[in-house]
Amino acid sequence: MGYLALVISLLISVALAAASYFGLKTDYQPAILAFAILTACTLILSFAFCVCLEVSRRRAQELKSESEKLLALLEHGSSAMLLLNANLEAEYINHRHPTLEKRRLEKSQNSIDMKQWEEHVGPETRLRIQEAISDRKIWRGELRFGDSEQADYLSTTISPIFDDDGKLKRIVVCCEDISKHKAIADRLFIREHYNILTGLPNRQFALRSLNTVIEKSALRSNEFILLHIDLDRIRYINESLGHHVVDKIFIETAERLRRCVRDEHILAHLGADEFLIILDKSSCHDEASILAESLLDRCRAPFYIEQHEVTISASIGLSQYPTDGNDGNTLMRRAEAAMFDAKSQGGDRFSFYDESMSSQADRRLEMENQLRHAIARDEFQLHYQPVISLRNNQLVGVEVLLRWQNDELGNPGPDEFIQVAEHSGQIIAIGNWVLEQACQQIVAWSRAGLPALSLAVNISSKQFIDGDILASVSRALNQSGLPAAQLELEITEGLLLNDTPAIRDIFKELKTLGVHLSLDDFGTGYASLSYLKRYPFDTLKIDRSFVHDIDGCEDSITLTNAIIAMAHSFGMRVIAEGVENLNQRRILRERHCDMVQGFLYSPALPAMEFVNWANRYSEMQHSKHI
Ligand code: C2E
Ligand code: CA
Ligand code: CA
Repeated sequence: MGYLALVISLLISVALAAASYFGLKTDYQPAILAFAILTACTLILSFAFCVCLEVSRRRAQELKSESEKLLALLEHGSSAMLLLNANLEAEYINHRHPTLEKRRLEKSQNSIDMKQWEEHVGPETRLRIQEAISDRKIWRGELRFGDSEQADYLSTTISPIFDDDGKLKRIVVCCEDISKHKAIADRLFIREHYNILTGLPNRQFALRSLNTVIEKSALRSNEFILLHIDLDRIRYINESLGHHVVDKIFIETAERLRRCVRDEHILAHLGADEFLIILDKSSCHDEASILAESLLDRCRAPFYIEQHEVTISASIGLSQYPTDGNDGNTLMRRAEAAMFDAKSQGGDRFSFYDESMSSQADRRLEMENQLRHAIARDEFQLHYQPVISLRNNQLVGVEVLLRWQNDELGNPGPDEFIQVAEHSGQIIAIGNWVLEQACQQIVAWSRAGLPALSLAVNISSKQFIDGDILASVSRALNQSGLPAAQLELEITEGLLLNDTPAIRDIFKELKTLGVHLSLDDFGTGYASLSYLKRYPFDTLKIDRSFVHDIDGCEDSITLTNAIIAMAHSFGMRVIAEGVENLNQRRILRERHCDMVQGFLYSPALPAMEFVNWANRYSEMQHSKHI
């Protein structure tokens, strides 16, 4: 419209000017010309004005669309934005943003409750923010709102804007709600650093804490002690009573240990039945010994889980910073080596690390590796020790004892390698091999004319629990043809400590097969009358340490008397092992012990030598030398 009016006016003024110039000869000619020029000028000015108007209208439109875009970006973006002036009053808040809505930052108030914000920003963070602003730097960090249970976490960027004179003009605050990420990250952190079952720090976290304690102690020249706690016999409980019982034992153990340690100490659950305590702050041997003793005591107390009463014990190894190592891994390894030392002495005790233990640990590892190939490399040999009846001095049986020919390790004895094999699980294959070979040997001797001997085979508790002992025994009997009644399985009382229906069932089935059961090493541990009543043992073996004491010690004689009488009253036969002299044999015979074995007759011998010994013994008997 504006342009049309302009064009028409322009035409009129041109017409007027032309008329005044070419034809209209009037007295008013100069006036008309002046009018035309004036009109033209006005028109030009109007035109210019219109153009300006149009330009500014377009600019306004562009600005509007620009600001609409910016607003859309701000209000629908993922971040909450605040624009503050130098007095921290809000100049802009994208109040629709859920984060700010939640924080009750109403636009109507046009100011934010900085007090509310400040309350949640710790003094240290506040100081850092102030420092960043005065250094004209951007501050980036995490702000937490709400209590720890239901906290929101805002990842926040605070950017100061300064004017040309360098004065703070505005502050742009940009926040993003990272609560969900944080919750996931926290869960991941927990899963990565804590034991799910007990809620205690795990191995990885313990190692980290240990390294921090080492750093602090190095600065202050402090010493401290590390305790590695390992529960004894947990495997048996696991197999007989199940994982859920064991899990409850771990939870209860964690609680018992927690009650023993002070707040400044670190208690961790390394996994399975292993726990670790870092005695932060200077700690001495005596203090650690007292603690270890009280931890052992706590572990000894029976656990009442469901309807079971479970008794366990623990082995504890201690290493000291910096004497035993100055890095976390070494200290942990050495505490573990000390724990193994405690365990190898029967458990339920603690040991401080000493250098010999590292070589022991290396040796154990090497032994485990070598044991893997021992059967294939034909390194095992069976030795047989005669068992003699005290009634008629006849050779009635043998106990088979395993020997390992391994030059690299210096032919370790069974007391050493059986433990390693038990720990690594290799005992199952080895035990089966012993059973099969020994059964075949006895049958071969019977065929060769030797009297039918009973064969006693040592069975490790692990073979009962992890292996299928019934299948192994049946296979050995079937393959060899040895009558079941000639086979006696020697079991130590460790297996019976936790009386379980599963083990009793196996015992029953073995009895149904017809094999005999013998309770080995009686008198060394916890075995009591109640075990003897509960389990169908045919034989009780009085431990050699006990027999060792009977010549010369009245108490031992009285006790031996009682054991033999008690075993007989339960219908069991008694074998005394480790008989080394005639006096011991006399005492045992007088006390009606049924059988003996020991160096007095013969140590365990390889098969060939045993046959020679048996022939010689038989000859001596015939010539009435015995
Ligand atoms: P154990 O079952 O108590 O075996 C008796 C141990 O006493 C044998 O030691 C034997 O050599 C030793 N001994 C025999 N008579 C005397 C004596 O008069 N005086 C003394 N001081 N000792 C005597 P060895 O052969 O070193 O076996 C040690 C342990 O290793 C055995 O104790 C047994 O628990 C275990 N073991 C041996 N062979 C096997 C096996 O094939 N399987 C399993 N699971 N364990 C085995
Ligand atoms: Ca034995
Ligand atoms: Ca024994």
